[in-house]
Amino acid sequence: MKQAADILRLEKETAEKLAAKVFQKIKFRGFPVIKMITSEFIKYFDENSKQPKFFFSSFKFEILDRITPNKMELPYINGSTQFSLLFRDCIISNLGINPYFYEKDGHRTDHFSKLIEILKENRYDEYLNEDQKGKLSFLVHFSKSLCDTADEWDDFFYRISSLTIVNQTDPQLKNFYAYYKQIQSSKSINKRIRKAVELVTGKTTEGFLNFSDIKLNFFNSIVVGLNGFAGTDCIYVSHSSIKNFIQILSSNGISDENIRKLVKLNFTRIIIHEICHVFIRKTLNNFNLSSPKIFSLGKEENLIFGVFAEKQIFQERISWIKSIFSSKFNMAYCWDFLEKILDGDDLIFDFKNSGCVLNTSKIKYMAIDFEESYDLL
Ligand SMILES: [Zn+2]
Repeated sequence: MKQAADILRLEKETAEKLAAKVFQKIKFRGFPVIKMITSEFIKYFDENSKQPKFFFSSFKFEILDRITPNKMELPYINGSTQFSLLFRDCIISNLGINPYFYEKDGHRTDHFSKLIEILKENRYDEYLNEDQKGKLSFLVHFSKSLCDTADEWDDFFYRISSLTIVNQTDPQLKNFYAYYKQIQSSKSINKRIRKAVELVTGKTTEGFLNFSDIKLNFFNSIVVGLNGFAGTDCIYVSHSSIKNFIQILSSNGISDENIRKLVKLNFTRIIIHEICHVFIRKTLNNFNLSSPKIFSLGKEENLIFGVFAEKQIFQERISWIKSIFSSKFNMAYCWDFLEKILDGDDLIFDFKNSGCVLNTSKIKYMAIDFEESYDLL
């Protein structure tokens, strides 16, 4: 394994030769510069797959840093297959600049191989199916996360391979699609989302961002706690997670009526959170955006963008599942508020009156809605 110092000793000439070689490959394949990162990475992994431990940092220092040492931008051109294929290069490039991978690193090769399997799917084929597109969109965000143990990373790599997009005609989801349409057409919600995006980007969104253009994709997966994430002109919401949410509530004696309302409240929160991630990426024309930190007016705290968006509606970052178990929780108030804003009312949420409980878990993931508190109940 070569160390960083060795790499630095590489003569300039060698680096230039490599660059020339790289450039030839690109021209030959007719793809943008970045296209080759994934194939180089897969090759490197395969060559080292007999070792019990895999060090991503070795690949980074030996190869990746010479191809693309900086953060990649992913211009937001929806519908282009080439764009989806670039997701893979983007994932690798993000891992390369994630401090975890040069400060800690060291993975069991058989665990890390799950990521390689995803990258290898349709390696030579331009066509990505919806499942693959979902997994790769997730990984573009996840590769920027603040996970700091090998187990955390590997567990996600392992579990995300189970992601499958649910058929839009599934009768179980009919009500959710209808409800999603209702959220999409709420004047009040639209206005607040626009405001959040405009505040952060400094750009006008009128006539450019249309909530009604954003598709809702449900997926199933074995990633416990993963509620949803942002896609390109679509939002991914976990049906498995909704079922899990219902299961926890019903096994704790919550009435069917309250479960129905709570599912809607939490679903609304997820949609608002993720739609804002989609919109900000679209507005800034970069799908590989790190969530901007917002210095909110008069407060010293940094707010991550998705949470900032949630606050435009609910004033705070709320854990709905924790709220229902609080003696102070006021369902009548929350439900009434939701119905009114769906009708276009500009009502401001009264957090104190709602009796809701804050979600105080650390935010580790970009554009991914993840709730770790399920098992804390
Ligand atoms: Zn977020």
